[in-house]
Amino acid sequence: MRETKELLLNLQELDDQIDTLKAEEESIPEKKHDLEKGLEAHQAAVAAEKNESVEFAKKRKELEIELEDGNTKKDRFKHQLFQVKSNREYEALQHEITALEEKNSGLEDKILEIMDRSEQVSRQITEDEQNFKAETATVGKAQTKLDKEQEDLRQKIAIKDDERKRLVIDMDTILLKRYDRIRANKGGLAVTTVNTGACGGCFRRIPPYEMQNLKRDAQIIMCEGCGRILIWRWD
Ligand SMILES: [Zn+2]
Repeated sequence: MRETKELLLNLQELDDQIDTLKAEEESIPEKKHDLEKGLEAHQAAVAAEKNESVEFAKKRKELEIELEDGNTKKDRFKHQLFQVKSNREYEALQHEITALEEKNSGLEDKILEIMDRSEQVSRQITEDEQNFKAETATVGKAQTKLDKEQEDLRQKIAIKDDERKRLVIDMDTILLKRYDRIRANKGGLAVTTVNTGACGGCFRRIPPYEMQNLKRDAQIIMCEGCGRILIWRWD
């Protein structure tokens, strides 16, 4: 019986190792996905900046056309100043010219502001594109490293799986099925040792008569609290 129990403990230990390796292996696609997401977000940011730059150019063009119209109109009014006959007409025209000059000056300010902002965005695009290029290379390397890690983990899992097959080869099939079923239902932990008078799985205190049975090593004893296989820790 002690041999069987040691086998069960070894099996549990091996399965714990396999579970850990599998969890690591399964986390790799998500890590790769996160890297790609980060890259995509930065790519989208650059695209948005380029879009902004196009919008600035469009707006600038519109303002420049408006300014040109304003200047043409102003020139025409100035020309008309020489042809007016009365003072009132002259003053009215002068008033129009002043208003146009103010408007045109405002347009010029807006154009300058857009030029400034456009330059800022252009610089930002250059910087972000360089960063993006560097990041793409870094992410590429990280992806390759993760692929390699995944391959290593798969190999380790295959080796452990073989080890498990060898370990259970002489094990009682009913006991193995029972073990597998408990493991499936109890989050991977089917066998637990009792060394401080409590179940290592659910921490239920083991009554003295059960402890006697456990120490006697005569049979497989299951925890009444969680159904796991209990093993007295000899050492
Ligand atoms: Zn228990």
